[in-house]
Amino acid sequence: MNFIDLRSDTVTKPTEEMRKAMYNAEVGDDVYEDDITVKELEEYAAKLVNKEAALFVPTGTFGNQLALFTHCLRGTEVILEENCHILQHEVGAPAIIAGVQIRPLKSNKGEMDPIEVEKTIRGEDIHFHETSLICVENAHSNGKVISIQNMKEIYEVAKKHDLPVHLDGARLFNAAASLNVEASDLTKYCDSVMFCLSKGLCAPIGSIVAGSKDFIAKARKKRKIMGGGMRQAGILAAAGLIALKDMRQHLKVDHENAKFLGEELSKIPGINVNLDQIDINMVFFSIEDSSIDGKLIVDEFYKNGIKINPPENGEFRFVTNYWVNKEHINICVNILKQLLNVK
Ligand SMILES: *Cc1c(COP(=O)(O)O)cnc(C)c1O
Repeated sequence: MNFIDLRSDTVTKPTEEMRKAMYNAEVGDDVYEDDITVKELEEYAAKLVNKEAALFVPTGTFGNQLALFTHCLRGTEVILEENCHILQHEVGAPAIIAGVQIRPLKSNKGEMDPIEVEKTIRGEDIHFHETSLICVENAHSNGKVISIQNMKEIYEVAKKHDLPVHLDGARLFNAAASLNVEASDLTKYCDSVMFCLSKGLCAPIGSIVAGSKDFIAKARKKRKIMGGGMRQAGILAAAGLIALKDMRQHLKVDHENAKFLGEELSKIPGINVNLDQIDINMVFFSIEDSSIDGKLIVDEFYKNGIKINPPENGEFRFVTNYWVNKEHINICVNILKQLLNVK
């Protein structure tokens, strides 16, 4: 059965074109730096975010943790936002891999206050460990896009204190599309960036870490420590190239579809949609009637050929992606109407 899948933009299967490119990819042993398709992807990716060099890594989590591992000495402190992916959804890896301490800050929907960031940077004191890195996430996984102004201000604070900034840009191109700017307009306010090829861009596997030549040379070695020295990875990079060259342009459609979904859901009585939170491909909403069981909704959707995640803290998240169109959205909205018994 062909399900409509609204659980995430990670569910995107590769396109026909990607599968053909993977079949035909010229490959080599990438640990020997012999894989010309991986090289092409890394060079293309670096250019796209206006950094000197880039490195292909298996996942976004891997890329973020590799960035921490490369930037930070063991026992130092990383400043980041309290709901960010690196802290909340990477299985506690900063303590395990880089061996760093995390210093989370409250934020306004993902935007940290630059003044607070500056106050949090450690000064000289025998009791203090050193601050080694500031992380920013854009687009934020709460569906919001961080403004360029906020990124710029945090970057300026970091530079004043001679600290690097890492951008978790798993959805960097969603952020850029939403702001109507180039990705490089955002990445100029970071020293390193990670972005995923495997989310809305449809590549089956893979993320990129980009930064200075020196940073990437160090990261290449640390990638090997983490077990990420891949061999004929050009098979995957071939799909990644299509993700970056062609699929990026499609993200705007995902965003329009999310807005459409949000608006249609908000017309249903008893449903509260966070309409002002739909900057990218994510729609968050809750159902007023708390007697309605979230699991029941998940099951009913499933019976009707739609996969959704159960609500978290009473809130559902529907994510549009390349394989979801307006017609699918209408089907979903109608099923929810039926479930809530509204016309
Ligand atoms: C998905 C995601 C990641 C991690 O990517 P994986 O490929 O799933 O490991 C990192 N940061 C953010 C903001 C994400 O949404």
